[in-house]
Amino acid sequence: MKEIAQNIAAIRENMAKAAIACGRDPAEIQLCAASKMNDAERVRYAVEHGVDCCGENRVQELTEKQPKGAYGDKPVHFIGRLQTNKVNKVVGAVDLIQSVDRLPLLECIEKTAEKKNLIQKILLEVNIADEESKAGFSASEVMEICSKMREFPHVRLVGLMAIPPVSQKNGDNLIFFEKMHTLCVDISRKKYDNVIMECLSMGMSDDYEDAIACGSTMIRVGTAIFGRRVYPDKQAPTTEIKK
Ligand SMILES: *Cc1c(COP(=O)(O)O)cnc(C)c1O
Repeated sequence: MKEIAQNIAAIRENMAKAAIACGRDPAEIQLCAASKMNDAERVRYAVEHGVDCCGENRVQELTEKQPKGAYGDKPVHFIGRLQTNKVNKVVGAVDLIQSVDRLPLLECIEKTAEKKNLIQKILLEVNIADEESKAGFSASEVMEICSKMREFPHVRLVGLMAIPPVSQKNGDNLIFFEKMHTLCVDISRKKYDNVIMECLSMGMSDDYEDAIACGSTMIRVGTAIFGRRVYPDKQAPTTEIKK
């Protein structure tokens, strides 16, 4: 467990360096612990040692860890693929749904939030590298949705999220991070109703410094905090997990 605290301290230092190097205030950038595959105890330890929030990928992990107090007093976000039949368990249970990647999901969140009489904060997920295998809207679809956000009064759009390709070396994803930043700025300028571009969620274990250089306000880090994820045999991925 102690490594988790040391890892977080090291990441904090790198974050500060990356921010200062491009003239940004380190306080503008949040560290979200991507906690998938880590149990409540390990997540709680990370929460107590300096992460700003946690991100869960699976509804089942969220609903198991939340009652155990895994997130302490920190916000928890949903960052994975969300099926509409599980929206009811997530709306109102998390501070932010980062991974809104298709219109029917947005509509379902609106309806559910209305029923629960609350306003759900969300990010739109952008498939910034136009990858076949990845979820998310294209940049032009994002623009289109932003222009219609007033039709979703129980949802508040507070920014964008992206998962660019796995980077092989430093700098690989700069082009995508820059595209995300530009998209964010373009949307802000339009001053759409019910849209505030305050959160740009991008950067993971291997590329968060580059993301910070391009204006990221939230990095989502798993491996560099918790170590390499151990998948049960049956679900072993066919490709090697980074680090
Ligand atoms: C797992 C995950 C991360 C963190 O990935 P690492 O490479 O382990 O840092 C970030 N975002 C999402 C959506 C994830 O699923």
